[in-house]
Amino acid sequence: MSVYTTKQRTVLLDFLQNNPDEVFSADRIAESLRSEDISLSAIYRNLAALESEGKVQRVTKGGSRKVYYRFKAADECKEHIHLSCSKCGKTYHMPLPATNTLIDDVKKNTDFEIDRTETVLYGVCKACKK
Ligand SMILES: [Zn+2]
Ligand SMILES: [Zn+2]
Repeated sequence: MSVYTTKQRTVLLDFLQNNPDEVFSADRIAESLRSEDISLSAIYRNLAALESEGKVQRVTKGGSRKVYYRFKAADECKEHIHLSCSKCGKTYHMPLPATNTLIDDVKKNTDFEIDRTETVLYGVCKACKK
């Protein structure tokens, strides 16, 4: 790996780290990092690498094939379900007790076991409802 690609990776990771509660499309990342001179293909390449390392999560929105990326923050994020606002794109972390109640309820009623690490629910957040 050249020094240059390492720098691109650092810039990309910094950007995602600084916006941990938002999801971004690759296009949007490219636009935000325009001053850093990173090509879209370099962004895709680095995102794929970060995803395979478990640092970034790929997210798709219902009904759309567009792919978004989200920084996987702390380990605790493996335990709870995430809520994504369709209006502002912010990610909210469902408290663990609420996550457990939801998962137990669905299991009891449908015998279906939700994968908590992969589940993102879409809706409208409190701030956007105002
Ligand atoms: Zn979380
Ligand atoms: Zn919102």
